[in-house]
Amino acid sequence: MSKQSKEQHQRHMRILQRELKKPENAICADCPSRSPRWASINLGVFICITCSGIHRGLGVHISKVRSTNLDTWFPEQVEFMTKMGNKKANDYWEAELPEGFKKPSESDRMGLESYIKAKYTRSKYASKSDVAPTYD
Ligand code: ZN
Repeated sequence: MSKQSKEQHQRHMRILQRELKKPENAICADCPSRSPRWASINLGVFICITCSGIHRGLGVHISKVRSTNLDTWFPEQVEFMTKMGNKKANDYWEAELPEGFKKPSESDRMGLESYIKAKYTRSKYASKSDVAPTYD
């Protein structure tokens, strides 16, 4: 990664913290956990630490995980997060989620893992009419 000025890094962290304060990003994109601190930079979602571990297991061709307060980000990655976010991403990835479906909780690691795999690897609940909103 190219060397980034301290100012630029701090600006990125501020932008990400601001995004995390939005109601739509206050809950993990994949489970009911509050205050996510991780992100998938190509899917554009904010996720909790448990889900971030599961995302890592999907492989980087599916999800690239970064910390919103520890890692260094490229400007384009930060920009993509501000354009996407949990609401917009889930409008696509959870478009076909059955009515009344309850997402597994952070304590149900097995259930969460199979849900996340179905959601992103098999696009099980994704919109059939739209193109996946991802960033390479
Ligand atoms: Zn989660």
